[in-house]
Amino acid sequence: MGIEKTEKIWRNGKLIAWDDANIHVLSHVVSYGSAVFEGIRCYQTKQGPAVFRLRDHMQRMIHSAKIYRMDLPASLDELCQAAIDVVRANKMDSCYIRPIALRGYGDVGVSPLASPVEVYIACWAWGAYLGSDALEQGVDVCVSSWARMAPNTLPAMAKAAANYMNSQLIRMEAVINGYAEGIALDPSGLVSEGSGENVFLVVDGTVWTPPISACGLQGITRASLLTLCEDLKIPVREQSVPREMLYLADEVFLSGTAAELTPLRSIDKIQIGKGRRGPITQQLQEEFFAIIRGAKPDRHNWLTPVPVPASAAVR
Ligand code: PMP
Repeated sequence: MGIEKTEKIWRNGKLIAWDDANIHVLSHVVSYGSAVFEGIRCYQTKQGPAVFRLRDHMQRMIHSAKIYRMDLPASLDELCQAAIDVVRANKMDSCYIRPIALRGYGDVGVSPLASPVEVYIACWAWGAYLGSDALEQGVDVCVSSWARMAPNTLPAMAKAAANYMNSQLIRMEAVINGYAEGIALDPSGLVSEGSGENVFLVVDGTVWTPPISACGLQGITRASLLTLCEDLKIPVREQSVPREMLYLADEVFLSGTAAELTPLRSIDKIQIGKGRRGPITQQLQEEFFAIIRGAKPDRHNWLTPVPVPASAAVR
């Protein structure tokens, strides 16, 4: 999936040309993975483009930066406004937004403290992450031979670039072996998360998802789905999940900004439930998509509208 180039990228307070958003090869981030970032979706709604949980994503980036002692040169409000400016400047209806804060060119040592922090926000068009049929048909995944990082190694609550070396191992192994995605266990052998998604199970009508201590990222889609379960009166348990429960659950699905809510039809070639999207997965998908497409009221204030430029409004 190539990146579809747009016109502008936001850099430390200014919109610059896409092709000018370059860094030096000796920037700290290149050798040491010292960046924190976000992935955000802007959806086309009946009322125009709207960014999903923008403030929560930017807040998570600020938190990720705090863990790594990185002072961002922009406030939460400024980052939110910048994301809107980028979507507007590129005249996007729907897109994926990638804010990234990195340690730039300044010092060659491991300590990042003498390397300047630069923040970029880009956006581009992006469709379904796990294939176009995935949302309805579900996908086949495996449990990875790679575990997530132990909690006293790389902190999972930070969405840091370096964590994605672990994600890359999980995903490459899965794809090379013919699976759409891999689910990693935590260092104690309990279910953690996918390479870029959180995991949910449905067991006897109750939704299960691993807790914050399972070395996964605290997904914003995950949090949204827990809220929707509450709205829909579906009981929820945030609880440790033994690997074998994945095989025995009635339904299993992955959640994430990119994957949205993707059902799993098999895990390690063991069929999950009836081998297709289950009823609770479908109910949650329908509720989620109805809100983000503006078909149902945005009762939790998840959407930030992007004002459409006057010239584009008369279409
Ligand atoms: N876990 C990992 C490792 C991820 O990269 C992502 C995607 N950001 C998620 C979970 C899901 O998080 P979110 O719903 O906030 O996109």
